[in-house]
Amino acid sequence: MEVKSISSCINCENLLPSFDCSKHQIEVDLDKVCSDHTFKKSLSKNSNCLNCDNFKTKACPNPSLAGDGMLCFSWS
Ligand code: SF4
Ligand code: SF4
Repeated sequence: MEVKSISSCINCENLLPSFDCSKHQIEVDLDKVCSDHTFKKSLSKNSNCLNCDNFKTKACPNPSLAGDGMLCFSWS
């Protein structure tokens, strides 16, 4: 069995934490994709707030919850 990467809104850099697409201003589902998909730096099992570019910046949507062992869809 070959395991492949797939493109969907969940790994697109245009997906907002609200599950809206910032490029098309529409609400999207995780199993959707469009031709404007752009891969976001992907999450891994080692991802957490401490290695997130948004940690302790204004870009973090969850500043009161961010910390060791925590993670959200806005990780980058
Ligand atoms: S650009 Fe396309 S793939 Fe990316 S979030 Fe928007 S609708 Fe989804
Ligand atoms: S809460 Fe999300 S955006 Fe904020 S530091 Fe953690 S992973 Fe990054």
